[in-house]
Amino acid sequence: MLLYCATGNMGKLREFILDRGPDMHIHQCPCYATLPECPETGDTFEANARLKAEYYSFHTAGPVFADDSGLEVDALGGAPGVHSARYSGEGDAANNAKLLRELAGVEQRSARYVCVIALAHEGKTIATFRATAEGRIIDTPRGAGGFGYDPHFLFPDLGQTFAEIPAHEKWIHSHRGKAFREMLKFLHQ
Ligand code: IMP
Repeated sequence: MLLYCATGNMGKLREFILDRGPDMHIHQCPCYATLPECPETGDTFEANARLKAEYYSFHTAGPVFADDSGLEVDALGGAPGVHSARYSGEGDAANNAKLLRELAGVEQRSARYVCVIALAHEGKTIATFRATAEGRIIDTPRGAGGFGYDPHFLFPDLGQTFAEIPAHEKWIHSHRGKAFREMLKFLHQ
């Protein structure tokens, strides 16, 4: 099975292509590098995932999936949410610094990663898949793996951050891994 993935985020792409087995191939959409980036104008993860999957699949010969994901922090009313990638406007390190500034003195640290994957063909969405991973935000970064907010995202079930656990283990527990497996179940049906 060959699926095209519509993302320019290398952290995500690395996770998607990780050890998928001999009968599953995932390639970045060939048009990703040449088309203008898809504007993410939706208010929800679903809306943005659909926008991206529809846009890139219109220019791709084959099924395309796109994920929209982010971090929802309860004490911040769900922020940064759909704005996670551009929370500070200056990349991952500044995003994490802003998050910790916003949470200074706040004890309630519950948060979740959310991922919605949209699967599309010829510009039309076929289905969407949503999953979450519950955790809490810690002040001191831990671990060198993962990407984005991972060094500050403690996964209580393992007592480690998503940056401390090996990539294949993050894939078992993560919002993205769970949503991806839902998509595979759908494709196999
Ligand atoms: P998107 O590319 O618009 O979906 O933005 C996703 C953003 O959410 C990323 O750039 C990260 O800031 C954050 N994010 C989503 N999933 C993860 C994850 O697994 N680890 C760390 N950060 C994540």
